Amino acid sequence: MTLQTRRKWFRGTALAALTAALALAGDPALAQSSHPIFKEKWIAGTKNPEPEMQVQRVDADTFVIRQSVETNAEAPFLYLLFGTDRVLLEDTGAGGLMVKPTIDKVIAGWLAEKGRKSIPLVVAHSHSHGDHIAGDGEFAGDPNVTVVGLKPEDVAAFFKIKSWPTDIVAFDLGGRILNIIPTPGHEPAAIMIYDPKTRWLLSGDSLYPGRLYVKLGQFHTFRDSIDRVASFTKPLKVSWLMGTHIEMTTRPGEDYPIHTASHPNERALELPYSRLSDLQNSLDHMGEFPKLDVHGDFIFYPLP
Ligand SMILES: [Zn+2]
Repeated sequence: MTLQTRRKWFRGTALAALTAALALAGDPALAQSSHPIFKEKWIAGTKNPEPEMQVQRVDADTFVIRQSVETNAEAPFLYLLFGTDRVLLEDTGAGGLMVKPTIDKVIAGWLAEKGRKSIPLVVAHSHSHGDHIAGDGEFAGDPNVTVVGLKPEDVAAFFKIKSWPTDIVAFDLGGRILNIIPTPGHEPAAIMIYDPKTRWLLSGDSLYPGRLYVKLGQFHTFRDSIDRVASFTKPLKVSWLMGTHIEMTTRPGEDYPIHTASHPNERALELPYSRLSDLQNSLDHMGEFPKLDVHGDFIFYPLP
């Protein structure tokens, strides 16, 4: 998400959001606070100080990393996926800290386990907003690293996407073939990534437990992207939707105030795959008139 445009809009819509949230309170299916994937609770600014970054290993080749809300209020998540030939980092954080030392350390640990000396790193982005690309400069100039560009044409060129945004392409990490799915709408260069190893759909800021900001002029583009990703992933048995922020509390429909310094009682990061069809249905029902729509664990949030 971006920071500039949304504050004014938020004031006008906060009351509507609250009203809708109250109507949703008490849905037992949504009140989950357990963390089925991760061993630890995510750092959430409730202890001061907390580490600048928290790394959680999910399997031998999969790491999820959170930037502390104390370094930047966006507190984004980064994903590091290893194959035998290369490793992919999705996103480089929101700024306010150095990211590369942590990434280098994780990679060094993985290499040591394998008895290997190096592995090429690809730095790609869920999308090109500032809270996901701020650490790119730390990686520039490293001969072992390729940083994917920020415009849709850069992303298309790197992943060999011939027809943006309708082509869905494979990207092989070596024994781990990701699918790269263009999903413009929240931002023009947005992608989702399906990973067959975890069966995760990395859904970026297009679908995560928080406020899904879409400018009114991008509504159709966003809806088309959600339709496309839904039909592509339908046969894939996606396990979880893995986004890039948490802005919802464990109370259904309740989000944190924007720029809050801590997230007590934070909802889990992972969303059930069914939230994708929930979003799709919600957008379909809006017809030509996008409106604020508060769900138990995400909020569709149109912006002027
Ligand atoms: Zn964001």
